[in-house]
Amino acid sequence: MRVLLVEDDDMIGRSLSQALDAQGWSVDWVRDGELAYSALIDGDYACVLLDLGLPRQDGTEVLRKARARGNATPVLVLTARDGLDDRITGLDLGADDYLLKPYEFRELLARMRAVIRRRDGAAHSVIGSGDLQLDLTTREVLVRGERSALSAREFALLHALLERPGAILSREQLENRIYGWGEEVMSNAVDVLIHGMRKKLGPDAIRNVRGLGWRVVTTLALAGSEGSAK
Ligand code: CA
Repeated sequence: MRVLLVEDDDMIGRSLSQALDAQGWSVDWVRDGELAYSALIDGDYACVLLDLGLPRQDGTEVLRKARARGNATPVLVLTARDGLDDRITGLDLGADDYLLKPYEFRELLARMRAVIRRRDGAAHSVIGSGDLQLDLTTREVLVRGERSALSAREFALLHALLERPGAILSREQLENRIYGWGEEVMSNAVDVLIHGMRKKLGPDAIRNVRGLGWRVVTTLALAGSEGSAK
């Protein structure tokens, strides 16, 4: 999944993006408020990690403008500001959560999962329905309750499709969800990924809608498809 990291401190930004990358996130890192705003508006991020004290435009201003435009991307504010007023302002402006520096990386990951889950409207860490579910904590897929591991990209793909089961996502929408900036994306990358996913989920789970894109089917127990997955 893609995360937008907004941090002007080189050392913090570098170590954080490396650590997130190692966890399978595609990280886009920007160092000032104006770039943060345009990235947030243009990109399709699972969540944003937002520092408040930024050059060119303050983090609170970025947040205010993005929310005013109707952008609902989950935002986790990371800041050294410990003033109560700043925290309240941030939350009032539409931040989903707040983490004061210094923080434990594990806690950051847990809070990222929590704000993403809330956006998904799920009170627990499993999304999807019927025969096909995704565990956001373990990043495993459950096919009729049976768990199997996913690569980071498979997870991002399935997460995008299962957010609104039945909705059709175009190639571009899927690429935006799976790959970060500067990542070289082969023209058939999504097809290859989906081909691999069908081996794990069964041939009917991800359907191509000609000319439009793909959608997920959460009821897999179709006649004739039983047992054909493996
Ligand atoms: Ca800063």
